[in-house]
Amino acid sequence: LKSPYHGGHLEVIVGPMFSGKSEELIRRVTRAVIARQSVQVFKPAIDDRYHVSAVASHAGRQVQAVAVRGAADIRAHLAGEGALLSDPGETPLPDVVGIDEVQFLGEDVVPLALDLASAGVRVILAGLDLDFRAEPFGCMPDLLARAESVEKLTAICTVCGAPATRSQRLIGGQPARLGDPVLLVGAQESYEARCRVHHELRR
Ligand code: ADP
Repeated sequence: LKSPYHGGHLEVIVGPMFSGKSEELIRRVTRAVIARQSVQVFKPAIDDRYHVSAVASHAGRQVQAVAVRGAADIRAHLAGEGALLSDPGETPLPDVVGIDEVQFLGEDVVPLALDLASAGVRVILAGLDLDFRAEPFGCMPDLLARAESVEKLTAICTVCGAPATRSQRLIGGQPARLGDPVLLVGAQESYEARCRVHHELRR
């Protein structure tokens, strides 16, 4: 008896910066390609354009991706390939849809991920679970709660070498303040992976 279950589901990969989220997404996508599955990867565009780009890990591995401004662009792109979500009988959706840096997409990414999983797609999302204040990041708690599978990765704390779960934001070499704006124009900004003990916020 053939199971009516189509295999669509949601996988979420989280952790701080440098924890290997992009590497893990690239690894899963590469294996799907080896299995001759159709794959489409997306990531948020830094600028205002919708274009072909790549997801790259800090260690230099990469896969092709489409840079998008939001979930609507992803729906449009999939529809553009003949795979309208409202009419899944037409050209099929990809077997696998991957999205990197998913925390930067708005709340609309949640219903999109659920629609795709319900339509039979394996959805693989990678993103930061916590922001620089170590508070839950945007749509991530919602996605984590709804996912069939969650992988939490750790980086290495740059201070003590312990497993790092936080992203330390530094401005001009100093820990950022709680109230600092998320985007700083022309600031000397950088990030480091830190453990719970060595993550700091300046008062
Ligand atoms: P993420 O997507 O989570 O930011 P990447 O997959 O882009 O992570 O990069 C992970 C790679 O970053 C590691 O395999 C390692 O080569 C490198 N790296 C640099 N700094 C660190 C650190 N503090 N902890 C762990 N890995 C680090």
